[in-house]
Amino acid sequence: MNTLDQIKKSIKHAMKGSFYKSHFAGIKVGDINRMADFEKLPFTDKEDLRQAYPLGLQAVPDEKIIRIHSSSGTTGTPVIIPYTQKDVNDWAVMFKRCYETAGITKLDRIHITPGYGLWTAGIGFQAGTELLGAMAIPMGPGNTDKQIKMMIDLKSTVLCATSSYALLIAEEIEKRGVRDKIHLKKGVIGSERWGEKMRKRIAGELGVELYDIYGLTEIYGPGIGINCPRQSAMHIWTDFMYYEIIDPKTGKVLPAGKTGELVITTLRKEGAPLIRYRTHDLTKSIPGKCKCGLEYPRIDTIIGRSDDMVKVRGAIIYPSRVDELLATIDGVSSEYQIMIDHMNGKDILTLFFETADKDSAAALEKTVEHEFKEKIGLAPKAKAVGMGELPRSEKKSTRVFDNRY
Ligand code: ZN
Repeated sequence: MNTLDQIKKSIKHAMKGSFYKSHFAGIKVGDINRMADFEKLPFTDKEDLRQAYPLGLQAVPDEKIIRIHSSSGTTGTPVIIPYTQKDVNDWAVMFKRCYETAGITKLDRIHITPGYGLWTAGIGFQAGTELLGAMAIPMGPGNTDKQIKMMIDLKSTVLCATSSYALLIAEEIEKRGVRDKIHLKKGVIGSERWGEKMRKRIAGELGVELYDIYGLTEIYGPGIGINCPRQSAMHIWTDFMYYEIIDPKTGKVLPAGKTGELVITTLRKEGAPLIRYRTHDLTKSIPGKCKCGLEYPRIDTIIGRSDDMVKVRGAIIYPSRVDELLATIDGVSSEYQIMIDHMNGKDILTLFFETADKDSAAALEKTVEHEFKEKIGLAPKAKAVGMGELPRSEKKSTRVFDNRY
């Protein structure tokens, strides 16, 4: 079956559920004859999924649903995603493929720190581990003392974590001076935007090879793509999904090499199929074949979210550009936080960064202010704080706080 036929089959199936019945009202699958017709279909956004709360997305009879997951709704109504047995199996197959791409085998001991429960993370890492035949160590987040004890006693070889939690663990190992008792070889880091500097710190302090695993709760969960040892771009499992990169403003599909928003259509999902789902993750397609030999196409490391970019006094600020900027300044750590406030009729941007070099704090602040002005086009107020003073989180960390509205 060619891609268009697979897409049409998935649309037909999706329209059995009440959500797409109304979202695609008036659309006839028989009228979709070429990719250009498909690319005219309306997008599906997270807000649409919220409206379908609780089970409006379900496209199969109740007896076929074996589990639900929910995306972490910090604001408003959560999104509930129902899974069939096949969905759960398919997810594990993709996850196992991720581990294999990272060179992980059944002899590995996989230390899983992402949370278990409504969130898709922990259980996805575990199902992939079990299907691979490796040993799962289902820690979940928190209790760093216990994490490190288990890591030493069980000789964990793979650490699965968000980037900020991996950094926290790396710092604790360093602080306790137990690095020679740690057996980690690889880190599988859940999708969260992270800069080169943070990557180098985690890799250096833990002494491991790092892999970026991609995914989102709405589309199975983590595990729908990962980078290979040859490069930093991520292979996406296109036998399970079709992806497009669009211009977030116009909605037009962009050619390979152009940065835009990743949009995903599931091809095999039964419980809650999604058609043209806007992930809001910014990336680009990498043209050509990878040297590793895998046929699956690649997307670049996620550089941020289309809804994360903020505009302050006319300048557009992407968190990824702040990462890059700080990476060029010696003495400045990878951790930072941006506060945007409106005071006396003016927008003020304060950038907090960590440094181990307290004596040079004032000079570093001046350098950061200067570089920020040069490269981003806006004069911030830079404020140095000590190492470990900015919050680390077990979940995705937010670095930009817009207090203007
Ligand atoms: Zn590759």
